[in-house]
Amino acid sequence: MKILIVDDSTTLLNGLVSVLENIDSLKIFTAKSKQECANLLLQEKGKFDIAILDLGLPDAPDGEIIPFMEKFSIPSIILTAKQYDQNNPLYKHDFIIDYVIKNGSYALDYTAYVVERFIENSKVDVLVVDDSRSFSAKIKHLCKRYNINTILASCAEDAIKIMKSKNKIKLILVDYIMPGMNGLELTALMRKKYKKDEISIIALSSIKDKDVVAKFLKYGANDFIYKDFSDEEFYARVNSNLDIIKLFELSRDRANKDYMTGMYNRRYLFEKGTRIYEKTKKVDDYISCAIIDIDKFKNINDTYGHDIGDIAIKYIPKILNTFLDDNNLISRVGGEEFCIISKNISEREILDLYEQIREAFEESVLTIDDLELNFTVSIGLTTSFGSSFEDMLKKADLALYEAKETGRNKVVLLK
Ligand code: GH3
Ligand code: MG
Ligand code: MG
Repeated sequence: MKILIVDDSTTLLNGLVSVLENIDSLKIFTAKSKQECANLLLQEKGKFDIAILDLGLPDAPDGEIIPFMEKFSIPSIILTAKQYDQNNPLYKHDFIIDYVIKNGSYALDYTAYVVERFIENSKVDVLVVDDSRSFSAKIKHLCKRYNINTILASCAEDAIKIMKSKNKIKLILVDYIMPGMNGLELTALMRKKYKKDEISIIALSSIKDKDVVAKFLKYGANDFIYKDFSDEEFYARVNSNLDIIKLFELSRDRANKDYMTGMYNRRYLFEKGTRIYEKTKKVDDYISCAIIDIDKFKNINDTYGHDIGDIAIKYIPKILNTFLDDNNLISRVGGEEFCIISKNISEREILDLYEQIREAFEESVLTIDDLELNFTVSIGLTTSFGSSFEDMLKKADLALYEAKETGRNKVVLLK
């Protein structure tokens, strides 16, 4: 992600850079005048993901930067010393996503918040359920400006289907009156499956009826907007609902994930693994459990130190993620030991898959500065349910033990 900041005040530029440089993957470019901005645009071929623009520049003192920037269509946050006036034609441009009045430190924090929200928005989908095409198109347009991808459903029944196939949806905007199932009924139905802290629902209605608002909230909507909203209100509500979902996700991650690798922890493996196990066993589907462990890992620690050992550990999920999608539950169960629960992969396929994973470790070289590290892994595998989830884990562990005992760098499957 590349950001362009245009402001003539060194203090403000430094302030912005210092709050924005903490954001991973953000490359910052700064300009102090319209001319410097033009030069940077030329140099980077106009390719910026987001911009922050000051309305009062030495060579563009009255907001001339706005018509100049319009042709580049870079989503922009406007910095202004004056009070914001919604009717000012300056703010009517489509590429402007927000404005910030420059006064004190709050302005910096708010700007950083908007940039961060903009980046985060690319990671989520918003489902819009409305039978009015024109209204859905309006929402889609508004969301796009703020970097949010929307999926449109013209009725509740479609929305239900879409929810089954898309897993990036974190927010649903639902209309009240629709042919077939109405918004209230859909909200109630969604709440049976998705909790309020997993997926946010904002109800939309043009009917000014307080009963409807209350009903929506009781049925499980997180928020409510009347359809005559201003763009600002829309963004504020969408963003704050996405913020809350993100906060819940963060606290869930803290409880369920291993800090060092970002993979699930042992506690979560037992909780979620047991659920997957029981569900799959009931319908007699395929399930497999694998335990992967670095060979002679102590040697890596002893030879190169603990920090290099840590890098080697973090390399495991990197490789695993190139072979396994979200349908696999990967967790770190010990120092350099990971467990993978996979659904719907048959015994024949699973052995092939783990053989490829083993080979990937054997053949790849991990480069850390001048050091070229190569290590192998052993994998214990089972596809038999046994009598319990713990039993299945024990079997995979036994298979791993056998792989270690019989020479390492191999996959052993126990039935
Ligand atoms: P084997 O081939 O039999 O698996 O041999 P090994 O040396 O890998 O054996 P073992 O599993 O006993 O070694 C695990 C070592 O991992 C011991 C422990 O000091 C180290 N370890 C555990 N957690 C961490 C960690 O978070 N970082 C690092 N760098 N080392 C860790
Ligand atoms: Mg200025
Ligand atoms: Mg080991």
